[in-house]
Amino acid sequence: MWGRSLERTYVTGEVSVHALRGVDVSLRRGELVVLLGPSGSGKSTLLNILGGLDRPTGGELHFETQDLTNANDAELTRYRRRSVGFVFQFYNLVAGLTARENVSLVTEIADAPMKPDEALDLVGLGARVTHFPAQLSGGEQQRVAVARAIAKRPKVLFCDEPTGALDSATGVRVLEALERVNRELSTTIMIITHNVGIGDIADRVLRMSDGKIVEETRPGRARRPSEISW
Ligand code: ADP
Repeated sequence: MWGRSLERTYVTGEVSVHALRGVDVSLRRGELVVLLGPSGSGKSTLLNILGGLDRPTGGELHFETQDLTNANDAELTRYRRRSVGFVFQFYNLVAGLTARENVSLVTEIADAPMKPDEALDLVGLGARVTHFPAQLSGGEQQRVAVARAIAKRPKVLFCDEPTGALDSATGVRVLEALERVNRELSTTIMIITHNVGIGDIADRVLRMSDGKIVEETRPGRARRPSEISW
């Protein structure tokens, strides 16, 4: 997918914030991309636009053969439902449902989903399917959230600070789960993080500053998640 000259201006009363000031970005199929940059530099805004949660106020956005630039609500909903998965910093699991049931919420409305147990197996939770969120560690809950996001086999998975609330040991397990999803399902993955070390697991690192992408590097997956300095 690609975006060209993407802009996003938030207008609140008399104040305008230019969150994106002309971003050119492309994600190749099966790529693992890390997006770095200080708070307020526009990372979440860009991720939300690429994921169809928000619309640019300028520029162009394309996914495969679809032109999403002027997509209406129904078209964006269809794009998100069919093609996109999200993982956020806080896992948003339903407390009264088991891991399997949490994943089922998504597989019940998807076109050609995996079985919930298969998705949970992929993230290393095959033995925890009947556990409730409160019986799982933070990292395990985040891996349930990853399983839930990938069970519908999205083409692209957008992760906003997926390890932001985790210590290094559990964060590494979450990154290993994401890497495995990327490798085995060829899911394109974009990860926002403050943790510069995580850039080493990526094919490509984009660094944002003040609403623009100011640097692009290609670590070429220099390290495995277990080898990064946290
Ligand atoms: P990052 O993810 O890099 O921290 P964001 O994309 O969240 O950056 O924010 C970029 C800028 O846009 C910031 O100045 C932020 O305050 C502003 N912003 C983000 N969301 C909104 C919103 N809903 N309304 C107004 N301003 C916003």
